[in-house]
Amino acid sequence: MDEGEHEGSSGARRLLDDARRLTTTLVEHVRLAPEVRVVHPAGATRRWLEIVEELSLVIVTEQTAAVRAHVARHPLVAEVADGDRADVALARLTDGGTLRLWFTPAKRSGATQIVATGSPAHVAGLRARAAAAGRDLEAIEGLEGAVYAALGLPWLPPEIRDGDDELTRAAAGERFDDLVTIADITGAVHCHTVYSDGKNTIRQMAEAAGERGLAFLTITDHSKAAHYAGGIDDAKLREQWREIERLQPGTEVRLVRGTEADILADGSLDVPAPALPELELVIASVHTRHKLDQDGMTRRLVTAMRQPFFKVWGHALGRMVLRRDPIDVRFEEVLDAVVEGPAAIEINGDPNRLDLDPVRVRQAHARGVRFVLSSDAHAAGELDYLENAVAMARRARLRPADILNTLPPDEFLAAVRPVSHR
Ligand SMILES: [Zn+2]
Ligand SMILES: [Zn+2]
Repeated sequence: MDEGEHEGSSGARRLLDDARRLTTTLVEHVRLAPEVRVVHPAGATRRWLEIVEELSLVIVTEQTAAVRAHVARHPLVAEVADGDRADVALARLTDGGTLRLWFTPAKRSGATQIVATGSPAHVAGLRARAAAAGRDLEAIEGLEGAVYAALGLPWLPPEIRDGDDELTRAAAGERFDDLVTIADITGAVHCHTVYSDGKNTIRQMAEAAGERGLAFLTITDHSKAAHYAGGIDDAKLREQWREIERLQPGTEVRLVRGTEADILADGSLDVPAPALPELELVIASVHTRHKLDQDGMTRRLVTAMRQPFFKVWGHALGRMVLRRDPIDVRFEEVLDAVVEGPAAIEINGDPNRLDLDPVRVRQAHARGVRFVLSSDAHAAGELDYLENAVAMARRARLRPADILNTLPPDEFLAAVRPVSHR
């Protein structure tokens, strides 16, 4: 999966989250032009790439010049210049970024969206299929589905248009209309409250989860070792459980007793032994000593994953998009330990993390690993980060059965229980 789009363009490298917000703002502006019939987000943003180098919109119109003039009037746009093809204009943004505008008549909007969205390899693959059938991809009329259908393919979700082997698989009959969606997610798995470094109370988090149609909420405040993040000890954890017990009768959302336990440098987990039998979920995360050498980090994580109780490996490789590289570890060796487990891997939807990344999720999925999708919410509104986790999972082609928090609450709890009570 390549991350570079439209070679030669330059400008701001943005977090996906920023790109999505900015795209929404620009779409709202473009829509106001009377000459615009429809406007569709496209490019890397529509494919949910972690880093977006160029924003992209497909605009259905017959009056390009008027729309260009309208775009140029937005305060975030410095100027609009001709692009590298006749139907493209490039808007330079005041922050140094680029907005690519694709102009298309309605009858060819599907092909234009496909070309404007897919990775170069995906689009090249489609052009080759069209050519083999004696056709020109961009002359095929209709919406996206009609264009794919004309090439003997089902419509493909934007998240998987990355030029890996999606065209070959689709041509061989694999369908991708059953990838996980936000509607499949039954509960929020990794959430912080005022007990550690979260901004909201358990009750407020539960209300927010209920508003989002979630059936359960796992409270996973930091463990004691994470003193920099307000980590809590055994006594405080029990105080939290008492509050959960008090709140539960009045709340429809099932409240789950969990912890986000630090993976210590020696690979042990910072879970108080007496609490373990009563915990319903353990997330195990590296928060310190990210720079351990490869041998040390591999040993540390293999040891952690082999701890004899179920745990979810939280924000697995510790990367911060555009800010911190992933930890240095022999990933396959750790996967061996995850598979032996018992363990699952988190896909963290915090816009700065998006960790485990889709490429390695595919690698782990091929090994039979199961996943949880999380928001790592530190405030009620951040439960919406689940949407990012879903997108990363879709890019990795995960289906609901690959993901534990698509199960009903009782089955989820049985699957992740740290210690068997048998
Ligand atoms: Zn964490
Ligand atoms: Zn966390």
